[in-house]
Amino acid sequence: MNKDEESAFKVFIRVRPLLDRENSPQNNKSRSHKLKIHDSTILITEKRWNHKKNHCYTFDRIFSENHRNNHIYQETLYPIIGGVLNGFNATCFAYGMTGAGKTFTMIGDPCTHTRDPGLSLLAIEDLFSRSKSDKNHITIKISYFEIYNEKVIDLLNEKSRNILVIEDPLKGTILSGISEYQIDDNQYASQLIQEGDSKRVIAYTDANHASTRSHVILQISIEKNSNFRNVIEEIIYSKLFLIDLAGSEKISATESRGALRSIEGGNINRSLLALVNCINILSDSRKKGKFVPYRDSKLTRILKEALGGNTKTIMIACISPSLHYIDETLNTLKYAERAR
Ligand code: ADP
Ligand code: MG
Repeated sequence: MNKDEESAFKVFIRVRPLLDRENSPQNNKSRSHKLKIHDSTILITEKRWNHKKNHCYTFDRIFSENHRNNHIYQETLYPIIGGVLNGFNATCFAYGMTGAGKTFTMIGDPCTHTRDPGLSLLAIEDLFSRSKSDKNHITIKISYFEIYNEKVIDLLNEKSRNILVIEDPLKGTILSGISEYQIDDNQYASQLIQEGDSKRVIAYTDANHASTRSHVILQISIEKNSNFRNVIEEIIYSKLFLIDLAGSEKISATESRGALRSIEGGNINRSLLALVNCINILSDSRKKGKFVPYRDSKLTRILKEALGGNTKTIMIACISPSLHYIDETLNTLKYAERAR
């Protein structure tokens, strides 16, 4: 596929810094790896005993541990926000194993929330400032929900535990009964997101003490009334989906136990697989007209109008630099490459 500037799909990699607890000296002398980044290329040299193996991948851009959320926003979402205000749908999602930095990227660190906000808040801030200088009247509404075990749960209304996804021939995909909040300033948006975050389904797994096993979606709906001499000429609707996906690690690797966890694992893998399968077809012009399996998961059903067509899709695959996670890191890079 020809990846030019106008490409509707962009795939970015973000390598997070080594955390303090990972900074201990390596005790596995038989195995090591080196990670080198050059703009859009990542080279991982894996050494097992005397055997060396190189893995080289190219993406739209690789962000290193020195890049802050604001910089990542400028290079990923910033170029497409103008389109969102002009009626184009868009999706941006963070992919990767638990602990790789997805939530840090999309929402920000809970402790430094305000100092280093994630892409969701930066996008809202940008939408506000652009809409202020727009001569048309722009309304911004948000919904915040998670998909857990193929169920859609409203994070901003505790009473809505199972939202139905309806495909309306006229209006497109509708989430029946989901709450929507009109937002007029950043602070209110940030407050709603924090409130929603406190209601996320959190389950203990050995890979991370509070690993999230659900896909969390912030839906920003834009309504733009363009008027001429106070007469509404047309109303343009668009949606931006910002998604913090569930951890992509294999369920066996996290030593999850019990039947529920296996069902969860199956559903997580199912939606991540459906997502990459849809993107793989939509991003390849040679596959035009081919059947797109949106119906394979709730996630892809909801995103149907924000993937493909006249939309922009951004994937940020998050990885850890630690040797401990090298196998998952390589899996993430392979997944990201399939989406490309
Ligand atoms: P995930 O959502 O993928 O499970 P998190 O975003 O929760 O992972 O990140 C795991 C840990 O790493 C958290 O303690 C987070 O603060 C830290 N972290 C992740 N990305 C970065 C980063 N770019 N800079 C500093 N710390 C980070
Ligand atoms: Mg997370």
